[in-house]
Amino acid sequence: MIGELWQAFKGLPEEKLQQLQLQESASFKKIPPAEIPELIAKAVADGKNLAANVEQKFPGCSLAEILKAQQVKVSFAELPISEKFISLGAFELPNQITINQSFQTKDAYFKKAGLSELLFENWQQVAIAHELFHFFAEPEELFVKSYRLSLWSLGFYQHQTSVGSLEEIAAMVFAKELLQLDYYPYLLNLFLPAAFYPKEAEGRLTKLFKRIN
Ligand SMILES: [Zn+2]
Repeated sequence: MIGELWQAFKGLPEEKLQQLQLQESASFKKIPPAEIPELIAKAVADGKNLAANVEQKFPGCSLAEILKAQQVKVSFAELPISEKFISLGAFELPNQITINQSFQTKDAYFKKAGLSELLFENWQQVAIAHELFHFFAEPEELFVKSYRLSLWSLGFYQHQTSVGSLEEIAAMVFAKELLQLDYYPYLLNLFLPAAFYPKEAEGRLTKLFKRIN
């Protein structure tokens, strides 16, 4: 069941997953629908460009070698898990990446389904690469960081907000490029909760697939 769902989601166009990802921002409903494809395209370009820069700066280097060269530290902690939301990792300035190790003991479920991508030892590299985006993005002027959505205006005053999930899209694209993955890593956020809440997650993913496909 979970194995079939994984294959089905893997076969979706990446942009559909990025639209889902964009919806995680509280301000999503305020984005004019006609602007969504362009916003996603610009976030994807940010992720790809930054990955290309890193590859140019560290040709042929492994993730571990890049971390070492940049003195980025990786530690493990139990971060919160809920049925709908999980955090795979976190980045703290100036150079600290934390990976959620709550999953470490939950591999049996995905092992049984033959989903090696979802085993902790495999996806933790992806989560590290994602957080590494935030590290490399920090000094850069990126579209995903500067974009502001206008919510309302009063006279000359314009109330604006950033759209955090744009940066998350760029980070997932960055991780995919850097590690040359054959799946869009936001799928981890969608699938990993299944290890804790198998029935709920399978039901939710089945419905979600029908809705977006
Ligand atoms: Zn992130």
